[in-house]
Amino acid sequence: MAKKKKNYLKGRVRVVLAGVGAVAVLALVLHLCYRSHTGKDQWTKGKEKEFYLNDYNDAHLRAAQKHGIEPIQSRDGLDFESVQGLEKISDCDLYAVDNLTHSVPYLTHNAKLLLERIGQDFQDSLAARGARKYKVIVTSCLRTLDDVENLTKVNQNASPRSAHCYATTFDLAHARYIDLPSDGKPISYAEMKIVLGNVLKELRKRRWCYALIEERQSCYHITSRR
Ligand SMILES: [Zn+2]
Repeated sequence: MAKKKKNYLKGRVRVVLAGVGAVAVLALVLHLCYRSHTGKDQWTKGKEKEFYLNDYNDAHLRAAQKHGIEPIQSRDGLDFESVQGLEKISDCDLYAVDNLTHSVPYLTHNAKLLLERIGQDFQDSLAARGARKYKVIVTSCLRTLDDVENLTKVNQNASPRSAHCYATTFDLAHARYIDLPSDGKPISYAEMKIVLGNVLKELRKRRWCYALIEERQSCYHITSRR
């Protein structure tokens, strides 16, 4: 009787183990299918891995207050060209400027230089990989205090103490880019997000900027430290 019970238990253990094994194999197969389908594999397997740039808003704000302009209350009747310390940014080979709704296309001289540097380094990194040429897209720039107030009504995430008010800070889309006529292999936006992230990581290390990844807005939030 005892032997029978022992054999019965052994059988049950085997069935459970086989079940666990089958589930594990199935999970692995599904995982590999997903990876090869999304093209994530070559990046996670290679040297470059996804990472997070997460300088807090306080760091951005301190740099902005140190290097930026005095915040502007309102756009009404204001000629931004006449504001000292501001330079206009417009579409060029290195970056495109989105249709801005809650900001105006102006930055400090050094923030503009930083933007150009990022655009150039991004294209150099793509070229080094034999990839096609793309340019980054600016999705937000200088905000007036009124812009920030209106934005906080729409986006709960927007901070009332925004570094964008000092013209030192801009956002770059990380989920879309502009394709430029060129040779080379096409690469996915997901890969370009990592390439751009690495460019920012390098410049951050050299104290050119602070950077924060904003997943909900699909952008990198960047502040010049000069
Ligand atoms: Zn931002």
